[in-house]
Amino acid sequence: GGTLVEVSRLTKIYKVRPRLLSKPRPLTAVNDVSFAIEPGGTFGLVGESGSGKTTIARIIMGAETATTGSLRIADHHFGARHDDAGDAWRHRFLQPVLQDPHGALDPAMRIGRIIDEPLRVQRPLPDEKAYRARVADLLGQVGLPPAFADRLPGALSGGQRQRVAIARALALDPKLLVLDEPVSALDVSIQAQVLNLLKDLQDRHGLTYLLISHDLAVVAFMATRIGVLYLGQFMELGGRRSVLERPAHPYTQALIAAAEPALDQAVPVSGEIPSPLDPPLGCSFHPRCHKAQARCRVEKPLLRPVGPDHWAACHFAET
Ligand code: SF4
Repeated sequence: GGTLVEVSRLTKIYKVRPRLLSKPRPLTAVNDVSFAIEPGGTFGLVGESGSGKTTIARIIMGAETATTGSLRIADHHFGARHDDAGDAWRHRFLQPVLQDPHGALDPAMRIGRIIDEPLRVQRPLPDEKAYRARVADLLGQVGLPPAFADRLPGALSGGQRQRVAIARALALDPKLLVLDEPVSALDVSIQAQVLNLLKDLQDRHGLTYLLISHDLAVVAFMATRIGVLYLGQFMELGGRRSVLERPAHPYTQALIAAAEPALDQAVPVSGEIPSPLDPPLGCSFHPRCHKAQARCRVEKPLLRPVGPDHWAACHFAET
């Protein structure tokens, strides 16, 4: 029982200037988002760019603080204020694996040094021999030979670089990995290999994952629970099978239709995502929704139960 991560009513409002000389205006990037991740599970946050998924990941990683709401990771509580002791703990407990293996790895640093750097900073080993042994072990865990320790990132393929990023993330024995678009920079043929590696490592180490992706197919492959974000709010939330097999929200239905064009079950979503500075009134999805009615333009639908362990924010979702 219990949950490892609990996000409660998280809201993040930025002050932005739409133009250089205009007055700052509030932009609600994340709007009253709540979810939990069970130990050993994978919570998949899916959404287009501008949906707020990366802001949520950054708040969980401690790179930003929430405007309101709270966050619990294991038995540590994080509020809207910085907490240095909590942050130090968080940097050992959770590690990120980010999208771009090119940008993430210093091109002048040998792979061995890239992987053992977190250890040198946070948990030093007695001597160089111990570092070499730990690097060889971590390389082995991600399916790379020990000789890779002496190479430079430029000599590696995209998939190999992402394996190195995963080895580095594992160096401090974290319990939680935040996977932010972990395969979107890779060829489709390589994506499945890296996702399978992540699944194997999760089983072997009992890891918990927060997976962020714009790609519903990636989330469908990995996640035990899924949250579908649109303009900072959950449109749908629930167990993997509920959301994928009985999608209740027109936006989720459209994402599934787009991911499996052969099924041709629903009208794919058309048009651009509106600016979060001017979110539509009523249901934020109504300008793109083929089921929209007059009510949708004035009344905002709340997330409500539509089945066991399954919620959707649509006036016309069937329960
Ligand atoms: Fe579409 Fe209306 Fe449901 Fe929003 S509330 S998703 S506009 S049907």
